[in-house]
Amino acid sequence: MNLSKLNSLKIGGKADSYLEINNPEDLQKITSPHLIIGKGTNILFSDKGFRGQIVRLHNQFFQALNDSIKASASCNLPSFVINMATMGYDFSDLSWPGTIGGSVFGNAGTPEADTFSKLLEITYFDLKEKKFHTKKNSEIPNSYRFSDFKNHRDRLIYEVKFKKPQKKQSKEILNTIKEKAKKRAEIQPKGKNAGSFFKNPKNNSAGRLIDLAGCKGLSINDALCSPIHANFLINQKNATQADMIELAKIIKKRVQDKFNIILEPEVQILDEFGKTINL
Ligand SMILES: Cc1cc2nc3c(=O)[nH]c(=O)nc-3n(C[C@H](O)[C@H](O)[C@H](O)COP(=O)(O)OP(=O)(O)OC[C@H]3O[C@@H](n4cnc5c(N)ncnc54)[C@H](O)[C@@H]3O)c2cc1C
Repeated sequence: MNLSKLNSLKIGGKADSYLEINNPEDLQKITSPHLIIGKGTNILFSDKGFRGQIVRLHNQFFQALNDSIKASASCNLPSFVINMATMGYDFSDLSWPGTIGGSVFGNAGTPEADTFSKLLEITYFDLKEKKFHTKKNSEIPNSYRFSDFKNHRDRLIYEVKFKKPQKKQSKEILNTIKEKAKKRAEIQPKGKNAGSFFKNPKNNSAGRLIDLAGCKGLSINDALCSPIHANFLINQKNATQADMIELAKIIKKRVQDKFNIILEPEVQILDEFGKTINL
């Protein structure tokens, strides 16, 4: 399986094998080493691919219960948000690409809301113990773009329960979703990218710092620092992971030299063994 097909940057070499999980029994087919992925909207894969098994959840389901909304981690978040709107539940705050699982892993969010603020509980499958666990959201350490799943890569997020919002008119929610999508389209560049490349430093904006450090429009081969939004690194055509890393390193150094602030990547930059590459 070519990893470039499994991520929004369209970068990455071949993985040794690929497994889709359609039911709990399939979890027994996971071998080691493995890497669990969602929609690949927050990953920069290695040009050498991945030495092991890529695991992807495939069984999308969601259900309104008495006091919560249950959903599989495999749900595509934008479709989930629209489905909920048609049922009268407003999840328009969660309007970014990817799956629910990926969103929990990185506690994805915006200044308005993050994933954990919407959750009641999370069920994960521990691949070492071969056992399911259900935890309250407060039992899993989380903060800005962080959840404890980042420290436990062998925990596969399987399903979640969201807090159930008060019912609203579907039309009203669908309008809010449309407006948010329009605003995003105005400020975010198109093309192959992984959203914000760096995390915002405390009380600051990575995009603003990168812009002021003069990096907009900077490129290494086909890797480009977007002239529209400086925190978006774009694969213009055939950029490699090496190109993206070189560009990101230059941006990081320029921001550090000018502001004495060290930017940290938000995107998961992985080597061929699934280990995080530090810039
Ligand atoms: C145009 C664009 C806009 C974006 N805007 C935002 C934004 O506003 N806010 C924001 O926070 N992010 C944003 N992002 C980044 C991205 O959408 C989020 O990080 C998203 O939650 C990633 O989900 P995914 O399914 O694509 O995860 P992947 O990229 O597939 O995976 C990300 C990480 O999660 C792990 N993972 C995925 N699924 C599971 C699982 N089931 N169990 C355990 N681990 C898992 C993977 O191993 C990987 O380390 C944007 C991206 C794009 C391309």
